This record gives sequence, structure tokens and C-alpha cells, in this order.
Amino acid sequence: MVSSKGVTRLLKTCKVIRKQVKSFLQQHRESSYDAVNLAPDAIAFLNRDPLAPIIATICDERISAKVAWELPLFLCEWLKQQRLDFKPSTICSLEKERLKNWFASHMQDKWPKRMSEEDREDWLEKISDSLIKTCERIWKEYNDDPDSIFIVNNGKLTVPLVYLILRQFPGIGAKKASMIARDFGRNCDWFESVKARLQKRGINLTITQVHFSEIPIDVHVRRVFRRLGFSGYFRGIGSQDFQNLARIIHPKNPGLVDDFIWDLGREICKSPPKCEECPLSSVCEYRGEGGEPGDALHRVLQIETRKGSNISIQQKGES
Ligand code: SF4
Repeated sequence: MVSSKGVTRLLKTCKVIRKQVKSFLQQHRESSYDAVNLAPDAIAFLNRDPLAPIIATICDERISAKVAWELPLFLCEWLKQQRLDFKPSTICSLEKERLKNWFASHMQDKWPKRMSEEDREDWLEKISDSLIKTCERIWKEYNDDPDSIFIVNNGKLTVPLVYLILRQFPGIGAKKASMIARDFGRNCDWFESVKARLQKRGINLTITQVHFSEIPIDVHVRRVFRRLGFSGYFRGIGSQDFQNLARIIHPKNPGLVDDFIWDLGREICKSPPKCEECPLSSVCEYRGEGGEPGDALHRVLQIETRKGSNISIQQKGES
């Protein structure tokens, strides 16, 4: 049970966040590859080779984004030394142990410091397996041509369709697919490189329905939203709550809310938070109350509930 006062406060907070999201997006227009500080030859390879961004996406979990997105170039160089091509049909014919051993040797000095031996082994196993299975699918179903995966519907794609296209590949889960689909919706480098290649084949790749983009939920997003006071509002805030908040904050392209919130969580809203530098401090419950997140709005809701002037937005099955 929630009060109309709670809804009003939530909308006010969303409005302040919207203003900051817009300002952040205007100031941060760098290419997605530049944003993770990739080496120029790695960027050139990602732009040139249609398989490279797919492999980078599969590798991009639990290790740094820079290491993951530079990895395809190193893999290509290793294959060349073996007199093999960097192609799906070649990679899927490699023995998994051979590929895994190469990954292990390449990653030796690149693992995140806190990653345990067990997690490293798990990463090596999962990524080698996913890479081989994904390459096999591209070889068999798309004629060894990674760009062909985007030719469905003659290249007229939507954000949800890009998501579905990517989800068919082992190693590209819901979070990765949703991030790439969102980035295609804002003409990221990967999208531009596929578009340029398909254009030469007479196909005009387009992405519509960007309002269906979603925010990836991670520890930074959770922490910032919780401290702002949303967790007190939703009582057990979950994935659907985050997505609907993002839709209210930035209806045209909700996924872009993540850019600002994630950056804020990583740079300012840390432990301890640097509230004096935060552009959301005027609406932040944690900052305002100086107490534990969830407390202030929760109290407002409880008072309003006792008065009996409440409305219900609880859904079946939610606590
Ligand atoms: S004001 Fe402080 S606690 Fe609130 S969102 Fe900003 S940094 Fe985080």
C-alpha cells in the first residue's frame, strides 16, 4: 500500500534525475569503444571484423571491459600464428581444451585481482565453450557470415528484435543482449560498422522502437536507486521496478538512464558516498536524512497509510 504523497515524491525525484541524465548524455558523446579506453588497433579490428564484437561480447563478463574487447585481436593474432583464419568455421573446429589453454595463457596477467582461482577456471570453461558453440551456429545457420545475423527482416530491426537475435548465442545472456540492443538503438560503433558493410550489399540497416530499451541492473544502479529512496517506496525493489522507473525518467530511451546512474554509482555514490559532489543530493533520501536508505520515504508511507489516504500499486505476488 502506498500513498499519493509517495507517488508525488517519486515523480519529483524522477524529474530531477531526468534533467541530469539529459545533461550527462549531452556531455558524454564519445564512442563506446573510446569509453573503455581500448587500444587503437583493437578498435580498428572491432570495426573491421564482423565476428570480433560478438566474441568480445561473450568474453565481457567478470573481467575488465577493456581486456574483453581487446581480446578478439589477440585471438586473431594467435590463430594467424597457427595458420588459421579468424572465422566462425575455424574457431568452432578448434578443440575446446586448445582454445581454453590459449585463453589461460593470454589472461595470465589480466585477471581481476580479487577473482578467485575457481572463478577464473569457471570463466575459462564457460567462455571457451560459448565461443565454440556460437561460432558453430554462425557457421551452420548464417553461412559463416556474422553480419548475416542482422539481415533478418531485410535489416529493418527494432530494439527488441536485436535483443532476440543476440540471445540465440550461447554466452550472450539477457543482460548483455539488452545492453547491446540499447546501444544499437543509439547507433553505437558496432551498429555503424555492420551498417556500413551491409550497405555495400544493398541493405539499409535501421533500428527503431528505442523506447523499448532497458537498463542493465548491477550493484551501482541498485545502490544509487536504493539510497535515493526508491527501495522504501517499492519494498523489495526488483527488476520490473527499475525498468519502470527508467521508463518514467527517460521515456524516449529508458536504457540510457543507466549511463548516468552507473557512472554516478561508480564515481560518486560509493562507500562512503561523496554527496557534496552529487547532482542528485537535493532529492536524495540518504543525504537528506543522513540515515539508512529506505527510512525516510518508508516513514512517509507508513504515516500516510495510518491516515488511510493511500492507493495501492502492489501487484499480485509482491510483498
Ligand atoms: S546524494 Fe549521496 S547518497 Fe545520494 S545519490 Fe548522491 S552520492 Fe549517493
